[in-house]
Amino acid sequence: MNDKKDLLKNLPKVDECIGVLTVKFNNTVPIKLIKRAVQECIETERQHILNDTGNYQQKSDDDWQALFQAALQKRLQPNLRRVINGTGVVVHTNLGRSLLSADATLALAQAASHYTNLEFNLETGKRGSRYSLVENIICELTGAEAALVVNNNAAAVLLVLETLANGKEAIVSRGQLVEIGGSFRIPDVMKKSGVRLVEVGATNRTHLSDYETAISEETALLLKVHTSNFRMIGFTSEVPLADLVDLGRQRGILVMEDLGSGCLIDLSAYHLPKEPTVQEVISAGVDVVTFSGDKLLGGPQAGIIAGKREVIDKIKNNPLNRALRIDKFTLASLENIMRNYYDTNLAIQNIPTLTMLTVSPRLIKGKGRKLLRRLKTKLAPDCQVQLIPTVSRVGGGAMPEYSLPSWAIELQPEKISLNVLEKEFRRLTPPVIGRIENEGFLLDLRTIQEDEVIELAALLIGFFGAETASK
Ligand SMILES: *Cc1c(COP(=O)(O)O)cnc(C)c1O
Repeated sequence: MNDKKDLLKNLPKVDECIGVLTVKFNNTVPIKLIKRAVQECIETERQHILNDTGNYQQKSDDDWQALFQAALQKRLQPNLRRVINGTGVVVHTNLGRSLLSADATLALAQAASHYTNLEFNLETGKRGSRYSLVENIICELTGAEAALVVNNNAAAVLLVLETLANGKEAIVSRGQLVEIGGSFRIPDVMKKSGVRLVEVGATNRTHLSDYETAISEETALLLKVHTSNFRMIGFTSEVPLADLVDLGRQRGILVMEDLGSGCLIDLSAYHLPKEPTVQEVISAGVDVVTFSGDKLLGGPQAGIIAGKREVIDKIKNNPLNRALRIDKFTLASLENIMRNYYDTNLAIQNIPTLTMLTVSPRLIKGKGRKLLRRLKTKLAPDCQVQLIPTVSRVGGGAMPEYSLPSWAIELQPEKISLNVLEKEFRRLTPPVIGRIENEGFLLDLRTIQEDEVIELAALLIGFFGAETASK
């Protein structure tokens, strides 16, 4: 026991350590951060001593300095960091979904560091509306009469339901009551918007007559939800949107589709499965459609609401709209991204999400060869490396079971397990995220950016070099 008391007494003094580190960092680091880092290290050590069962080793001054500096470095790093996405999932929700093009990023940066005409009409000199900045573009591209944009698609769904059916009923097919990642469930959102959900049909099949029978005095909306992240196969049937629209018209009930991903290009022309486009949904005659800005659209996080003018006007005037409104950075980058869609080739070329989805496996393989050339001799004998065919995913809840043919660098470390490798790669700067498959750790080149290939090679060489040195 006495031993422990002595050890505790010998722990470094916080104030002295802060003094040394302040000098070391030349007063460039806030003292509060230094203090927290020092306290954290000493507290951890105190716990080690208290829990020690006899083999505790006292730290040298150098050990302590290294500990403090590592703890401080960690605190100085931003919490939101760039990562290298080697998962091959293009619209990876956990890794930030869509990337913006350099051009869109510039538009965003301009809006961030300069005053803008966000709500100022430059023609009249009077107050303007932030929605008018993108409304025309959305309408021209989709064929909608009117549109507005809010924080994300979940907000869009909430706002539309609250505006059009609060206190009333909305009819939805059982097969479409989906849960999107992050616990977004259609039935829960409906509850929050004050809408009573009327489920119709069986899980696998819903017929027009199911909707017809369910319509009552209380029905305000027929809602179709795109089953983004799952597919039903086998004995299934859904009511075509056009039939729902006809029914709605006959009975004087509004029809809405939550499209989820929101695609403006027919991707089946690019060897991808057919997804309904926003234009098709609008031309089928729905009153309102909602979709995400950062899924297949390839823009910033946003929820786009488009449809009939009368309906959109009501939604715009809902006070809830103010709480869900889109910020100027999003608007700037969204406008920039949307403008590409006037020319399909331009969109495919300039919007990173679309470029990554449509790039040929041959080009992906080329990127892999470039990486492999830099690695091959350098990683041996600590890690075997080869270029192998693999499949990527679209992600973002779109085309769930579709496999995009791709190429990956497969790493097979000799001295550490795949799980350790995976964990250590998450600690690199920047972190490298891949996936373990069969006997290897895979880095899919589809989602590794062109300008990351050389950086990644250096990171891998550095990692295995350090591994060897520590052995
Ligand atoms: C993704 C998705 C949402 C939520 O959109 P966010 O932009 O993530 O808020 C809503 N509905 C469907 C069908 C979706 O696929």
